[in-house]
Amino acid sequence: MSGFGPEHLPYGIFRRAGEESRVGIRFGDGVLDLAALARDGLLDEDPALFAQPSLNAFMAARPEVWRRVREALQALTAGPDAELAAVPLDEAELLLPFEVGDYVDFFSSLEHASNAGRMFRPDADPLPPNWRHLPIGYHGRSGTVVVSGTPIRRPHGQRRDPGDPRPIYGPSTRLDIELELGFVVGVPSAHGEPVPVDGALDHLFGVVLLNDWSARDLQAWESRPLGPFLAKSFATSISAWVTPLDAIVGRRVPAAAQEPEPLPYLREDPWALDLDLEVALNGATIARTNARHLYWSAAQQLAHMTVNGASLRVGDLYGSGTISGPDREQRGSLLELSWNGAEPIALPDGSTRTFLEDGDEVVLRGRAGEAIALGEVRGRIEPAG
Ligand code: CA
Repeated sequence: MSGFGPEHLPYGIFRRAGEESRVGIRFGDGVLDLAALARDGLLDEDPALFAQPSLNAFMAARPEVWRRVREALQALTAGPDAELAAVPLDEAELLLPFEVGDYVDFFSSLEHASNAGRMFRPDADPLPPNWRHLPIGYHGRSGTVVVSGTPIRRPHGQRRDPGDPRPIYGPSTRLDIELELGFVVGVPSAHGEPVPVDGALDHLFGVVLLNDWSARDLQAWESRPLGPFLAKSFATSISAWVTPLDAIVGRRVPAAAQEPEPLPYLREDPWALDLDLEVALNGATIARTNARHLYWSAAQQLAHMTVNGASLRVGDLYGSGTISGPDREQRGSLLELSWNGAEPIALPDGSTRTFLEDGDEVVLRGRAGEAIALGEVRGRIEPAG
């Protein structure tokens, strides 16, 4: 089943030519239409829950319903003689799986944050003084979160080249990727009520792979003193398939102690997700890493995001931050892989890259063992025009 068998059953939104979009699950090389299964009496739910252009109605139906549907689907798909009418993948157009509420992006990989510090503040401590005390993040732009396969137009913007006292305007010359996990919120929270760290996972519906496209030249000029703005808001790609949290909870592994010990509202036994991740550029794998390299957990990120009373909505999305490991080939961005352009990456076709060129295609992939392949995130760079 190549990662899409009964243990996985990720949710998405699909459409056949001339038909309405609806909720489906990826099963093998096909898509099962949940509205049709419900209409045929194979799922004990209202078909209207699945005859929807996004997963938001299903997510809003709460975890009891998610679990009931998942158990029913596992029973349906696990049988050796299960005869389920699947839509072949090549007949299904895959759409953005959920309507994205608020979008936040963190900066929670110790190696990524340290590499950025070594490059841009070589004479200082590589980590900002707050890094080990809180999961640093910023609010991004939910309206430009796009589904895998959407072309990415090279953005225009302001940059200031080295040695030039004045900024110029034009297409970004340092377009980059960031390999991340995205966490999808399914259970809202009340405004004014922080979500405790030990209850944070109860709010999560699932996980996607996420590419936080980044224009490093725009970012370097605009980000002082505030955080990323136009350098990242032009596009963020996510996978078409949302892996249910229940499918990967078994991949939780203990993580190294956090030093110094976090403040009480962030305190929990350190853990991470053991998910193998990779980045391919024009078909060549250029990085392999693992989500266990994240320092702050998804629960700590969610607890921090709400500790001031900010509320959660169904469909909120937060990125883990670029996931890099200690070795060079484990770096989750071209910025790090090419060390800010100083060490070009050699590709099998004999060419080299520092940052992305027009026509380049990037694919992010992830696995939780043999049984689960996270939905890939694919994107090709189009000229600025
Ligand atoms: Ca990021």
